[in-house]
Amino acid sequence: MIVNTSQTVICRICCSTIKKNAKIFKEGLRFAIVYSKCHDNIPKDDLELMANMFIAYGGYFGKLKNSNFSLYSTLKELIIEFNLDSKSVPVDELNIKMKYRALLHGVTPQEFINGLEILLEE
Ligand SMILES: [Zn+2]
Repeated sequence: MIVNTSQTVICRICCSTIKKNAKIFKEGLRFAIVYSKCHDNIPKDDLELMANMFIAYGGYFGKLKNSNFSLYSTLKELIIEFNLDSKSVPVDELNIKMKYRALLHGVTPQEFINGLEILLEE
């Protein structure tokens, strides 16, 4: 659904200011307004996951886009953080934290999965 608003709206995913062509997607039982670029380029399930992560942890898609991001370095950093707490590395938590950091750097969930596959092949 395309909505043209007379007021300025902020995209739920990337925090861009939307003046026209805002799109609405259903997010669980709620609706969220997103910029058409995000709506058209990111699968609906991923939009929902991203919106939920930003609600839970803060930030937005591409917030740290101008800084360097390496999946391998992030993985190493997180394992070191877990080891500092003398915890064994919980794979689910590691996966969520890696995905969240990737999103902040403007890496889409699909690009994240592709990056993981490349990392695992090495
Ligand atoms: Zn957006």
